[in-house]
Amino acid sequence: PLRVLSGIQPTGRPHWGNYFGAIRQYIDLQEANEGYYFIADLHALTTVRDAAVLRQNVLDTAMDLLALGLDPTKATLFVQSHIPEVSELCWLLLSGTPMGLLQRCVAYKEKVEKGLPADVGLFTYPVLQAADILAYDSQLVPVGADQVQHIEVCRDIASRFNHQFGDTFVLPKANVLDASAKVPGTDGEKMSKSYDNTLPLFGEVKKISKQIMRITTDSRPMEDPKEPEDDHLFQLFRLFGNPDEIDAMAAMYRRGGFGYGDVKKAIAQSSEAYFADAREKRAELEQNVDYVHQVLAEGAEKARNVAAKVLGRAQSACGLR
Ligand code: ATP
Ligand code: MG
Repeated sequence: PLRVLSGIQPTGRPHWGNYFGAIRQYIDLQEANEGYYFIADLHALTTVRDAAVLRQNVLDTAMDLLALGLDPTKATLFVQSHIPEVSELCWLLLSGTPMGLLQRCVAYKEKVEKGLPADVGLFTYPVLQAADILAYDSQLVPVGADQVQHIEVCRDIASRFNHQFGDTFVLPKANVLDASAKVPGTDGEKMSKSYDNTLPLFGEVKKISKQIMRITTDSRPMEDPKEPEDDHLFQLFRLFGNPDEIDAMAAMYRRGGFGYGDVKKAIAQSSEAYFADAREKRAELEQNVDYVHQVLAEGAEKARNVAAKVLGRAQSACGLR
């Protein structure tokens, strides 16, 4: 069994990209491994500036993860800020991180290019993320493609520390699912909570259907045969269909002469069916918020024990003890 760790930001409601890129892996990997999954509220501070909203998002995200199948008897679920050791470890790592390493990070550069306000927190985000990963001696980090560079940065930071002060940190590996590493949003770009192009996992079915019908489509005439792999509607359809349905849809694309509206209807139907059980489970959890808080409290206690040991190791190594 491997020590698996990953986090999700409470910056809004989880979407299809989060599920198929990351959350589905959390649930698969919890069976045979030691999973540590957390809600990254410290990271969300660079985006969410309203205390009540942040608090609600954290609780919502916890319920979402539990409803989707994260099992607290198999994995540890906790809130990032409940583990102060991580912030302390972050400082040790910041002090050995070259500016250039962070200046090369694409996620930061992209947010700035899109005109999203950037603060020092956003710039140093990969170092806090490295602290998250290293604090639990994590071996495997299930993520979407957008996070692969950050895992490389984490390895780089950890190796520098190990080289300087002796073997202290375990070097983690990213785990990415090829077929859903970068799920497109309603505009064809990477689906992201901060880009307002998401299709949510939970929420009113009618509203989600409307959002699906509004997905931008290719402007090429309907009669033309098309390569399905190049079309973001097909990529979304493929998330839900069984292999036969996917083959049939791909054949339809290659023949041409179909309407994008039909693909959208198929996506709406199959996605509704796919998440129906989770939706039911979530409605139950909403009636049992005390249970959710209890899961998070127990998770934090377990995670803190691990992080305190690793922090102690790092402090001794660099001369703080
Ligand atoms: P934000 O815009 O606030 O960064 P986000 O939508 O990128 O939000 P995160 O909470 O940053 O979501 O990411 C949680 C996990 O979901 C990460 O492992 C990330 O790689 C993965 N993920 C996010 N978007 C996608 C996507 N479109 N396709 C596949 N995986 C994704
Ligand atoms: Mg993100």
